[in-house]
Amino acid sequence: MPCEQWSRCVVNYQRAVQTYGEAVFSLSYGTGAELNHSWQLAERARKNSEAARTAILDHEHDHACTLAQPYSGDGQMPGVAAEELVLGDQGQSGG
Ligand SMILES: [Zn+2]
Repeated sequence: MPCEQWSRCVVNYQRAVQTYGEAVFSLSYGTGAELNHSWQLAERARKNSEAARTAILDHEHDHACTLAQPYSGDGQMPGVAAEELVLGDQGQSGG
């Protein structure tokens, strides 16, 4: 189950991507030096987004809190009842 730190990383990522989107949107306006400034802001926002995404992946790698429940090793796969495996051709004589 994802932990609180992972959730914080995701919120950071969402905010960074939103900022990036707004910065890219602003490229539709302005010319010359103003456009150049907007481009630099967009590039910075893009790098922030990438860093936020990397932080999530690093956390998942280090903490493994987003993995499914680990296999318990008792010989039975989750969700597969033993009865379902032996029913076979019951009730069918092949007549
Ligand atoms: Zn975690």
